[in-house]
Amino acid sequence: MDRYDMEDVVVAPPAECSSPLKEWRLKLQAGTLTRNDFIEFFKRESPKFFDYQNMMKTDTNALTLKCMFKEALAKEEIIDVVVEFIMGDNPVSALEKLRLEGNTATVCGKVFKNGEPTYSCRECGVDPTCVLCVNCFKRSAHRFHKYKMSTSGGGGCCDCGDDEAWKKDHYCQLHLANRKNPLESKIITEAVLERAVICFGAILSFCVNYLEIEPNASLQCLDGDGAQFCTVLYNDESHTFDQVIQTLTKIAKCGHKDAMEIVAAIDREGRAVVKCDTFKECNDLKTAIENQMIPSNNLLLNQRNSQSLRTSVLHTRAVACQQFALQLLGWFQEFLVCHYLFRKTFAGLVQRKQEAFCIRHILEYDVKLWKTARTCWHRLLISGMLMEYDNKMVLAQEFSRRYATIVEDFISDDHDHAFSIVSLSVQLFTVPSIAHHLIAQEGIFDKLLHTFYHVAIEKFIQNRTLHFSKNTASLTFFKRANYILYDLRYLLSLKPEVLNNDLRNGFLEGCRALMRVLNVMQGMESITRQTGQHMDYEPEWECAFNLHIKLATTISQVIEWAASDVKLLRKLYKMTVRALVGNSFIVGGEKAEAKSVAGHVANCLMYDVSSKPVSIHLPLSRFYSGIYLHLGAHDMTYDSLQTETEGLNIKLTPREIIEPVLCTHAMIAQVAAGMWRRNGYSLLHQLYFYRNVRCRVEMLDRDIVCLQIGASLMESNEFLIHVLNKFNLINWAQANYETVLAEATEDEEFMRQLSMIDEFLELLIVIIGERWMPGVSLVTEEDRLRKEIIQLLCTKSYSHSELSRALPDGNSGNSDNIFEDVINTVASFKKPVGVDGKGVYELKEHLFEEFNVYFYHYTKEDKSKAEELQRERRKAKKQLVCCPPPMLPQLTPAFTSMANILQCNVFLSICTLIMDRALDAHSRSFTESHLQKILHLLGFAIQEELSEHYPFLSFYERSQKYGILDKLDELARCPRLEAHRDFVLWTIKRYKQLQVKQAPSTSAAGPSGLQQSAGDEQPLSSEEQARQEKEARARLAAERRAKIMAQMKNAQKSFMKSNAEMFAATGDKESGQDQDRDRDLEGAITGVMEWEDIPTDEEEQGAVALKQSVSCLGPDRRSYQVSDTAFKCILCFENCAITRSGPPLVSFAFVQTSRVIYTTPNQHQGRSALHMSCCGHVMHYSCWQEYYSNEAVKELRRPQRNRVAVGLTDNAEFHCPYCRTLSNTVLPVSEPLPAFSPVVPASEGCLPLDSFVEIMRTLAGELAGANAFTWQLPSVANILRKSDVVGDMALFERSVQLIQDPPQLSDNYADVLASFRKALRNAMQSQLPNHKAPAPPSTNFDSLEVEATGLEVVAQLWDTCSYTLQALEIYLFEIQKPLKAELPMRHQSCATNLVRACALSSTVASACDSHRPVPRVQAEWAARLLDTVFNQKGSSVLEWDCFRTLVQLQFGVLNLMAAEKASQAIIPSGSMFDFYILQTMFLANLTKAVICFDVEKAQVKRADETPHLELSQLAYVEMLPSKIQENMVAFYRRYNIPARVLQRRKQQQLDDERQHREGEEPQPQNQNQEQTVVIPCEQHTLALLLEYVQRQMSSFLRCSSLFYRCLTDVDYPDTFPTDQPDRFELMCQYLGLESQLGAYFDMETVYATMMHSFASHPDISREVAHRCQPESGSGLEVVPCLRPLPRLKPLFDDYSDLINSVSDIFCPNNEREEMKTPTMCLICGAILCGQSYCCQPELGMMTVGACTHHAHDCGAEVGIFLRIRDCQVVYLGRGKGCYVQPPYLDEYGETDQGLRRGNPLRLCQSAYSKIFLQWLSHGLHEEIARLNDNTNVPVTQWHHM
Ligand SMILES: [Zn+2]
Ligand SMILES: [Zn+2]
Ligand SMILES: [Zn+2]
Ligand SMILES: [Zn+2]
Ligand SMILES: [Zn+2]
Ligand SMILES: [Zn+2]
Ligand SMILES: [Zn+2]
Repeated sequence: MDRYDMEDVVVAPPAECSSPLKEWRLKLQAGTLTRNDFIEFFKRESPKFFDYQNMMKTDTNALTLKCMFKEALAKEEIIDVVVEFIMGDNPVSALEKLRLEGNTATVCGKVFKNGEPTYSCRECGVDPTCVLCVNCFKRSAHRFHKYKMSTSGGGGCCDCGDDEAWKKDHYCQLHLANRKNPLESKIITEAVLERAVICFGAILSFCVNYLEIEPNASLQCLDGDGAQFCTVLYNDESHTFDQVIQTLTKIAKCGHKDAMEIVAAIDREGRAVVKCDTFKECNDLKTAIENQMIPSNNLLLNQRNSQSLRTSVLHTRAVACQQFALQLLGWFQEFLVCHYLFRKTFAGLVQRKQEAFCIRHILEYDVKLWKTARTCWHRLLISGMLMEYDNKMVLAQEFSRRYATIVEDFISDDHDHAFSIVSLSVQLFTVPSIAHHLIAQEGIFDKLLHTFYHVAIEKFIQNRTLHFSKNTASLTFFKRANYILYDLRYLLSLKPEVLNNDLRNGFLEGCRALMRVLNVMQGMESITRQTGQHMDYEPEWECAFNLHIKLATTISQVIEWAASDVKLLRKLYKMTVRALVGNSFIVGGEKAEAKSVAGHVANCLMYDVSSKPVSIHLPLSRFYSGIYLHLGAHDMTYDSLQTETEGLNIKLTPREIIEPVLCTHAMIAQVAAGMWRRNGYSLLHQLYFYRNVRCRVEMLDRDIVCLQIGASLMESNEFLIHVLNKFNLINWAQANYETVLAEATEDEEFMRQLSMIDEFLELLIVIIGERWMPGVSLVTEEDRLRKEIIQLLCTKSYSHSELSRALPDGNSGNSDNIFEDVINTVASFKKPVGVDGKGVYELKEHLFEEFNVYFYHYTKEDKSKAEELQRERRKAKKQLVCCPPPMLPQLTPAFTSMANILQCNVFLSICTLIMDRALDAHSRSFTESHLQKILHLLGFAIQEELSEHYPFLSFYERSQKYGILDKLDELARCPRLEAHRDFVLWTIKRYKQLQVKQAPSTSAAGPSGLQQSAGDEQPLSSEEQARQEKEARARLAAERRAKIMAQMKNAQKSFMKSNAEMFAATGDKESGQDQDRDRDLEGAITGVMEWEDIPTDEEEQGAVALKQSVSCLGPDRRSYQVSDTAFKCILCFENCAITRSGPPLVSFAFVQTSRVIYTTPNQHQGRSALHMSCCGHVMHYSCWQEYYSNEAVKELRRPQRNRVAVGLTDNAEFHCPYCRTLSNTVLPVSEPLPAFSPVVPASEGCLPLDSFVEIMRTLAGELAGANAFTWQLPSVANILRKSDVVGDMALFERSVQLIQDPPQLSDNYADVLASFRKALRNAMQSQLPNHKAPAPPSTNFDSLEVEATGLEVVAQLWDTCSYTLQALEIYLFEIQKPLKAELPMRHQSCATNLVRACALSSTVASACDSHRPVPRVQAEWAARLLDTVFNQKGSSVLEWDCFRTLVQLQFGVLNLMAAEKASQAIIPSGSMFDFYILQTMFLANLTKAVICFDVEKAQVKRADETPHLELSQLAYVEMLPSKIQENMVAFYRRYNIPARVLQRRKQQQLDDERQHREGEEPQPQNQNQEQTVVIPCEQHTLALLLEYVQRQMSSFLRCSSLFYRCLTDVDYPDTFPTDQPDRFELMCQYLGLESQLGAYFDMETVYATMMHSFASHPDISREVAHRCQPESGSGLEVVPCLRPLPRLKPLFDDYSDLINSVSDIFCPNNEREEMKTPTMCLICGAILCGQSYCCQPELGMMTVGACTHHAHDCGAEVGIFLRIRDCQVVYLGRGKGCYVQPPYLDEYGETDQGLRRGNPLRLCQSAYSKIFLQWLSHGLHEEIARLNDNTNVPVTQWHHM
């Protein structure tokens, strides 16, 4: 616990008097021991452990305060003494024995820390708040159940062992075992308890006293002796971190870093000491801080913002006592966990009402404490009071009694809910028996609502209705008050099986309070239609909806409680009726008027919706509906209760019941008809939420029930007239309407009328059709859910998460299980396809029959989507193409009369009216959707009668009077209504079925003919339709093509302008498909632009021409074939060919720093390399320049927030306009290299390899000796003379392919190269400033780069080339693509152009290219390189990256030989010298492989992997001439490092033994002296060696093949397989190398000489010595021949293991603070403290988040991080970032970012490997850019990550 240095602590000398322990014991015996003895002891001792130091930083003048409480010492000196007193001598062993007794507790009660994982069981948990800690979970049966996991916000506790939390499996194994233990203990005797009572009391008194104080020091303090005071700063939630940091730096003169630490401490602990000094100083600071009014950035959001910070001045002694009190409480809590008897004692103490520390006091003074102090008390209460049921009950009672006070304090306080004692409610109210007790005995239900009414809504009541103001400050407070409603929800979450009288009364008392709340909510935020002008301001509406959402669950719960108890139901019904009658909203005294339709008259209420206030909020009416639904189950009816209520003198008529709801619906219809446009958006928002899944259960759904109640209670005709009247459609329903209308004009009013008719008919459909509601018809809750899911799945396939989001939350935890059951009966789960796909649910085929197109939860979009799908489906099945209504479930007795609507006169007359008007071509009051709806309703009617549920139904008979069938026949023939024909036919078909049933005799008659014809007509029409559609589609496609062509043409004319539009248009389409992009694009280009890809035909011809040869190098090389180089510039669309004198061409490229392939941390001295990628699209350099400057202007115009600060040295980023690939530079595109330098046939003779070596050595000397001032490059002749090889210049010139008249490239080409080089330098820049300490002087030639800045640049371009090829090689290997397999264009063109650019860059001289290495510097660099390679005067072969060196040699050396004359040049293109360079590096790599070979490891590996396989090389070795074999053995023994180490060890051993023997008995000197150890080396060893070597060479050979393929343009031979890994011999053949390894051990050849020379480097011997004695210094940093493959960190398979692995992890900067956001670097596995104020290291001049900082080094500015607790993967790169799909998926194949769903998650390997490949292919920057391209992406401060 103690983070401070122990040594500088002065321990007080022991007191003169006896030790406190003795004193207490004496006093105890004497009976005089009191609490005060302890309290005084605490007060006296604790200040000794408080220490502080003020330090002045000389440089900044900032004051640093180090302030600490030495907890470890305090524990030793104070707490341990007390423990000893309680437990007697030897407390440690006593406590240990106690632990062994095992009687800790039968409940777990572990208190969760913030971020700790918790588990809940979906099968057994009583409610979702029942959770387990990880330890219990792992030992419980629930781990095999369906569980959910989430992370705790802190403060909750584990419910293991709580009988009421679980339905079964209440205990984990551990706590089950604890149950068997006795409650009593042998250790805890009466005496112990007696002492404990005194000590506990003392501890509690001390803590209560000291934590509470927050005084300013009294006046006497002014005389204090010096610096004895502290200024303490407290936490609040209204100031931001930055504001406080600012205050501290400005006023307290803290350094920025110190201020950040203090602020982090304040946030963590709730307060911090900011100054220790004299009282005056401290008080001055306090005043200064308090006077500092922090300017608030958004006053509107929080009034408190303008408040000053809270501070106090305390004496240091007081601070010390407080710190100690905190420690004491923490210890006490743990101590109580030890034993039941301790808790019993504790509980007894805190129940003593007279004590200062009684529960009541602890609860009430919570608000006066700061964060940590509160948390300590909460934890103490949880451990002390919640483990035993009795204690829990006591606490619950006290809590309930204090509830109002506590809540009021909480609301006026500003700490988060989790830091308030109020948060304890979840521990108490969720225990059902306690909750029920509290409701029955403590009236808690009433109390909660009363408190809520009083503190939250009373002040908003105006005119008996709620009206929220727009004052937002009060909303914050309103939000806090809403926690009461959460508590209420806990309280009612479990309905009791049986209610006793007390509980019923307590419950009803609460309901009365609820009625009072609902009463003021009825009609709240009412609105009146605006007619003249728009609303001046959008009225406040959210508050009312929030209140509704918070209360809705409680309402549902109350109704559920009432449903099970008849007495309760009866009383609640009456209560509701009374409240409704008493409420005057809408129904208060409106006059009624008689209206008549179709001969029926109804007395309608005339409340005019379009001019009087209406409201969305009608909770009373809805509550009534909810209650009403349950009457039937208890044999109660409206009528039976009517008499009862009338006895009470209250009367509620059906007309009054529906009136408010009807008005609201009329308003909704009017809104749809466009009559409320002037009321602004707030109304539309409200209507949205009215139907939204979060609100509709207690809104829309209840309203429909309410109307259904009306429909069942009223006479059907009367009901319809009421609705018609409210919709203003009485006139319309009259037969003469059309004639009246003929005189009116067709104005807006008329259109509205048409729309109102639609709305009316739809409402009617809903009232009749939406009856999947228990109580309305004979269905269960499951049926209701089932219907909901069916309708949802008719719109589309849903993933699991989408589906659960689209369904309302259940009231209890069980709804989850119901959901699972139901979904599996109606849908089948389709497993995800591919990495990105989600698994989806699809509706079972037969259930599409149940589809209802007018489903009331559908939005407009849902409806049209579902309708379209249904039509397609039916067409495919050759059914009538329409959406007929489904069969309806049977109504309950209470609602049965509702069915009568379908046969009443008003209904039938409306139907006939509409059909008549449909048939009347001149009718104006008709639209087709009217007809559709009428058909739907008729369908209902027919099917209801077919169901035979209702004996009174005689629709068939009555409809005949109205001639419905004839009208239908007529409709079917009407050509104008063609679109509805199928539906009409369907209706007729159903009608006929009814006819058959009703009157079998008539069925055979006339109409059968019609049926026949309909049958003929139908399939024909649908087929025709299909054909027409197909034609239309084709036409559309053609039009689209033509449009695109036109666009293209346009683009050619003024490409800059039109590009932007065209690409914007295609951009959307492409954004979704990343992988297919290449292919798509290539396709697109070949189609439109006749793009020539990589030539494919020529290679075959070439192969035919030179049948024998397959090599690209060496004496037998093939010559290259000229290929077509025509392109189209993607910017100006003109043809362009690569010519050396024409305008230069470029391709978009992206250069980035990279460390991907450096798998060992220190490789390449910890530095990163540059990687190049390129999309391959070609354009003119001049076109690009124009494009680029345009892009730059656009970038400047972009909104600031989206812009990334671009430094001067940074490469500006832009996108390829064609494929949107991210780019930051351009790569020159040039001709194949052999085109510059014609191949000389080998037959003309050339210099041999040894001459080459000789020349190179000479060149090294020449270059090194070149005079730096009067500098001159050595002439070729000079070199030849000195090397003394051949005098024949011609031979030499042929060997290097000297070009006499070097190509004259266009001037601009130099510009291209210059800008390209600049981009490389810029890219490297960001890595330089932070470059770690200068590399230690080493012999490695890399260090050249450090020594001279000039030299640094020389190899940059070539190293980029080699790194890019190496990365490509590894990537291809990883995706198992052999060389011959066709590469994607971007890889191919990148490699080719990069190699060509390297080759040409050294030849193209230009004065303006300042970044090009000057020949002199290059010469210096080359001299060192040659010395290293050919003279063994640098590092040894072990430290070389041979491929990298190969590329350097290729580009950096040969061209120097021709640099003397402008008329000469050497361009590497496959000359013999190029071949020799390859041979040299091949031999070097071979040597390295041979000397690094470890026979033991190879054997072990073989035994592990392929134990039974024959050694492939054994036969070959056996065949080798013995001389060669001997040479190999000799080479092995002489140079192989492991062999030499072994030999030395054995030799040493032997020598030691001999010496030993000699010591014992001296022997003659000459004996045994010659004895040397010989390491065995058999043929078997050699075979192993050769196998190993071939394997080790593979990476080098593959890289070289890629490289020389680009250099020589000679294609891979046909012998290269495209489907299997690349083979050693084949690659050697292609490269012209000898593939028989034996050849290299022939002593006669220059090969062997070279290998000896590589192997005999002195460093290698030193390495051997080092390995023999590893402790002597450090060895060489060996670069392996075959790099280990890059890998991301392996992850746990189970996500929960991952999250648990970091549950106890601490911030590296602050060991007391747990990491809030532990974040794992997936590249190296480091766990970082992400996005946190405690970890903000500096990077350059900025403070950045830990991840950004880490990424800079670990991944060379790019990183992949897993935010463990959120289960989110972040890509970070250069201040930008993005979230990508994490590799953890649940069983539905879905991710769960932020753990919102909590399903168990498992690692998905393919998702993880997708991330891996994106990283391996250097695609992270690209992905970040792609995901940020979307402007909707919220702005994130990625660099704080
Ligand atoms: Zn537990
Ligand atoms: Zn447990
Ligand atoms: Zn379970
Ligand atoms: Zn162009
Ligand atoms: Zn492109
Ligand atoms: Zn890392
Ligand atoms: Zn940290």
